[in-house]
Amino acid sequence: MYERVVIKLGTSVLTGGTPSLDHPHMVELVRQCADLHKRGKDVIVCTSGAIAVGRHQLDFPVLAPTLSNKQMLAAVGQSQLMHQYERYFEIYGIHVGQILLTRSDLDFRNRFLNARDTLHTLLEHGIIPIVNENDAVATEEIRVGDNDNLSALVAMLAEADLLLMLTDQPGLFTADPRTDPEAQLIPEVAEIDETIKALAGDSVTGLGVGGMATKLQAADIARRAGADVIITAGSAPDIIRRAVAGEAVGTRFPALESPLENRKRWIYAGLRPSGSITIDAGAARALTANGSSLLPAGIVQVAGEFTRGDSISIQGPDGRELARGITRYTSADLTRIAGRQSDDIEAVLGYAYGPVAVHRNDMILV
Ligand code: GLU
Repeated sequence: MYERVVIKLGTSVLTGGTPSLDHPHMVELVRQCADLHKRGKDVIVCTSGAIAVGRHQLDFPVLAPTLSNKQMLAAVGQSQLMHQYERYFEIYGIHVGQILLTRSDLDFRNRFLNARDTLHTLLEHGIIPIVNENDAVATEEIRVGDNDNLSALVAMLAEADLLLMLTDQPGLFTADPRTDPEAQLIPEVAEIDETIKALAGDSVTGLGVGGMATKLQAADIARRAGADVIITAGSAPDIIRRAVAGEAVGTRFPALESPLENRKRWIYAGLRPSGSITIDAGAARALTANGSSLLPAGIVQVAGEFTRGDSISIQGPDGRELARGITRYTSADLTRIAGRQSDDIEAVLGYAYGPVAVHRNDMILV
């Protein structure tokens, strides 16, 4: 049912509530991810656990809870954590790639696009991105702070259709299931209102940073970006396959709109074009009739000054606006590669951000 899934593995899931990684369980989660990957789904893992693993590696030192001590633990633990993912995915012949992000990588449009390009390139090559916060360098001002919110930003970055948050709870309950025997699982939340937020309280589970409250925040971000969100227990048998197949598991938060539509609306309504380009008749036909991306070969003229990630107006040979889109190249770059084949971009510029000038997903026809 879903095609591109961000799977958030919380520290409590990876450790099974112990101070160290639960390796057999981690192998099982990797097996489920590998199975999805084999069936042609795009899988992105958002992992926690760096700090917990660092603590284990250093034999549980007694440390003051300062930022620099946490950064040290993360620096030690992150590489070890990655090493485990590499080993376990290798069993299935799958490569993994590490992406470490902070909020500042996502706040600036240019860096956002770079992070997105990296993520998409890994996926195109069948590599599973393993994402975590760059805890070793992230200070208070630039960090996301918890991997629930991070996973929502990753779902947005990846244009995922599902964010699966695996935790140590089966989902969101009508009351605290640990103290109230009447507590019932809420299968679907259509609106995250004050009542729902009150149910989440400010619970913090196990070793991780987040609790139900940060999961609700994250769910709200991801569903606004067009992803369905499911919160459920990582220990339930075959949970990843079942969730991705659309089985009713845990608590589901349906997406508010499709990411593509949402994004296109934003391109048209939310951004003022910083410049324009004129394209030839062949390119105009490819855009309007075939829904193709715009290649540099079809560009005949560039007007105005714009940078990568800016919105630009795309005009036909008669000067009429045909489309608006987000450019992957600056105006200076486009001037140099206009009319050239995509294969020549690197030779002309000395670098390339991919074969297209404006991707179809970043373009709305007007
Ligand atoms: N990024 C942290 C880590 O890997 C975890 C944050 C969280 O648990 O939400 O240790």
